[in-house]
Amino acid sequence: MTMLEFKYQISNQCVILIKKGDITSESTDAIVNAANSRLIGGGGVDGAIRSKAGRTIELECEKIRKTIGECKTGNAVITSGGNLSAKFVIHAVGPVWKGGNQNEPELLRKAYRHSLEIAIKKQINSISFPSISTGIYGYPVELASEEAINEVVCFLQQFNKPKLVKFVLFDDKTFANYQSSLSKRCAVATLK
Ligand code: ADP
Repeated sequence: MTMLEFKYQISNQCVILIKKGDITSESTDAIVNAANSRLIGGGGVDGAIRSKAGRTIELECEKIRKTIGECKTGNAVITSGGNLSAKFVIHAVGPVWKGGNQNEPELLRKAYRHSLEIAIKKQINSISFPSISTGIYGYPVELASEEAINEVVCFLQQFNKPKLVKFVLFDDKTFANYQSSLSKRCAVATLK
């Protein structure tokens, strides 16, 4: 099976790469989890990450819960990656889609922004994102991809790091939407 990957040069130091795949296999320094506020195991990408990582994530999330309580929508926290190839997992809480008038776009952008802020604080050079909120949380992917791409592109242009941001997308429709959103922002795409 051929795996399509598109690479977009955002600045002289930063690239965004989009691909179809399973984020739990990524070996970037960090992968991002589409988590819930209680930081308790869920379905979707969260379930896949936790089952591959082992118990570490559960234990570290429990500690975080005891310290900060819940992780509010739009925020993110970091744990180690347990048995994953990625050293860290950043747990970002996207909004549940409630029709679009409940500040969902800003909350979604915040989830990406906070993840990237944590990454640069931890000197993480490469990070992989799933399509936050577009699964169980019901955010329409054609809208979510625009917010995600715009936020990440703006962040990279402003801070010039992390060096590599990957979007690892689970299905064709999601991949097509992210590709389309990126193509609007960046003229040149290299097929890998
Ligand atoms: P949310 O609750 O934020 O909507 P989900 O996990 O339900 O999060 O879905 C977010 C996206 O992650 C969806 O596009 C879903 O298809 C995708 N997804 C599910 N499992 C994986 C995986 N192993 N790797 C990458 N993406 C995944």
